[in-house]
Amino acid sequence: MSKFWETKTLSTMTGEEWESLCDGCGQCCLHKLEDEDTGDIYMTSVACKLLDLKNCRCTKYSLRTELVADCMNLRDVDFHQYDWLPKTCAYRLLHEQKPLFAWHPLISGQKNSVGKAGISASDFAISETAIENMDDLEDYILE
Ligand code: SF4
Ligand code: SF4
Repeated sequence: MSKFWETKTLSTMTGEEWESLCDGCGQCCLHKLEDEDTGDIYMTSVACKLLDLKNCRCTKYSLRTELVADCMNLRDVDFHQYDWLPKTCAYRLLHEQKPLFAWHPLISGQKNSVGKAGISASDFAISETAIENMDDLEDYILE
């Protein structure tokens, strides 16, 4: 695959190219809380119930937006709204006209380079099925 991410815009990428940009960190599948006063977004360590925490993949990917109310297809979202994505996410980076990190699988050629870079949610997240009350999400906000 050529370095399409350096020559194409997000909106002109093929479906295969688009999907290959996702490094599988799983961080976008973590529950977030928004400060109503400031609009600041806080990421928690609690993952969506459909995230397989071993490999950080959605167990119902093709049905995700139907099964989970606040799940979204990133391709359908205005790219200017990507500021809630982690700063390591390729979609956010490319929208902000920044390069991918050296550990990105498209550059490293290795899927496990994401884990080695320490950004995989599988290293620190727990499933929402493991917590008693979703009203306690505040207790799981990440530093
Ligand atoms: S944050 Fe970005 S790179 Fe990570 S899983 Fe979500 S879409 Fe993929
Ligand atoms: S439904 Fe799937 S893609 Fe959407 S947040 Fe949950 S695990 Fe992630």
